[in-house]
Amino acid sequence: MSRINLAHRSLLARTGDWIRRHDRPIRRLQWLVIVLYAVLVIVPVLLPLPDDTAHLWSNLTLAAQFVFWGIWWPFVLLSMVLLGRVWCGVLCPEGTLSEIASKYGRGRAIPHWMRWRGWPFMAFALTTVYGQMVSLYQYPKAVMLVLGGSTVAAIAVGLVYGREKRVWCKYLCPVNGVFSLLARLSPLHYRVNEDAWRASYTHGEHGHRVIPVNCAPLVPLRGMQGGADCHMCGRCSGHREAITLSARSASDEVVRLGEAKANPWDSALILYGLCGIAIGAFHWSASPWFIALKQTAAGWLIDHNIMWPLDTQAPWFLLTHYAAQNDVFSWLDGAMIVSYILATALVYGTALWLLLAGAARTLGRWRIARFHHLVQALIPVAGCGVFLGLSATTLSLLRAEHLWLGWAPYVRWSMLAGANLWSAWLAWGISGRHSVSAVRRGSAMLWVTAALLVVDSAWWLMFYLW
Ligand code: SF4
Repeated sequence: MSRINLAHRSLLARTGDWIRRHDRPIRRLQWLVIVLYAVLVIVPVLLPLPDDTAHLWSNLTLAAQFVFWGIWWPFVLLSMVLLGRVWCGVLCPEGTLSEIASKYGRGRAIPHWMRWRGWPFMAFALTTVYGQMVSLYQYPKAVMLVLGGSTVAAIAVGLVYGREKRVWCKYLCPVNGVFSLLARLSPLHYRVNEDAWRASYTHGEHGHRVIPVNCAPLVPLRGMQGGADCHMCGRCSGHREAITLSARSASDEVVRLGEAKANPWDSALILYGLCGIAIGAFHWSASPWFIALKQTAAGWLIDHNIMWPLDTQAPWFLLTHYAAQNDVFSWLDGAMIVSYILATALVYGTALWLLLAGAARTLGRWRIARFHHLVQALIPVAGCGVFLGLSATTLSLLRAEHLWLGWAPYVRWSMLAGANLWSAWLAWGISGRHSVSAVRRGSAMLWVTAALLVVDSAWWLMFYLW
């Protein structure tokens, strides 16, 4: 890169260059995260489960639970919105291991089945439901099975497919879809300057050597628009003097690029995944309706002398089974949990689908692309919901330590209010790309407001009514 250009690069662009130049310390940091992750996943399995006298600061199992579900996951989600997918590209242990494995693996071509666009939704849905069946947030063996299993799968995929690539992350990681949605809200991204790229060919003819970039998550660099797929690893910063870490409006990717990028699986993940399955997973253990339904079902089974569903002999890797903790699921419990989560997804997802379809229709003749575009306006409120649901675990662990949490409801409702406003702002921007009529846009906003209230009702039930 020429000196003149270097001097004119903004602080952000130079930060991107700095990340590119410091791949060694980043690699060391990645190994540190891998070691920490391995300790937190493996060691608690070897220890006895904590009793009632255990504390966060004196019991490794509780500490690991707090770190994973109380800090790590909620703040990884938050980091997606603030910084894009820096977590994926710089810190994620699974991504690092998968890429290292693929360096020494068989380097096969990516099979057709793996490119199916429904994987992000299916992987998220299956992991979330299965996590509830085995009480992922409570027990180390379940963590070992789900997180450890995912890591083993990431390494196995790396060993077979791609060369120094993150094929697992791009196609099969259970949270790839969620991260991809949240990263669209980030004010940071690697911007590609098409003119500079074209000009770089002329420079090339004059002897400038262009060093090829290994983009591990397989982003086509020249055509990259937005940050949904970019892992922000910084390796392409300054490439052909055309790619720079840049600031942008937090609405840009959703409003400006959303229609071209819209696809049904993203909408399914937002409506039926984040606003459906995830809400069901957070709800069932707090819901009095769940208990009432379960009691009714159990009564019916007993009346009809069908006793096997009340049996509690399922293994721990199928249904929660910790007799010493008095925490054992029957087949009925398992079936009720899965049904409750799926029913919640169906009710919330379909209600939101209908309301946003109403908004899309209000803006003009029915077009499915417009509907999918509008659905993306719900990303802030959907992401905020998952953050709040996960942080409920954080708060219950802190509550058990008798810490004062009087501030929590204010923070929670403020975050939700902010996310609602953000979603409404996005919806207003999106509606402006589909209609110039203020009346149509205003009417569409009524449908969108109703959809936001539907999402809010889930958190009102969980944090207020129940
Ligand atoms: S486009 Fe690829 S190489 Fe460039 S920062 Fe993103 S992940 Fe890294």
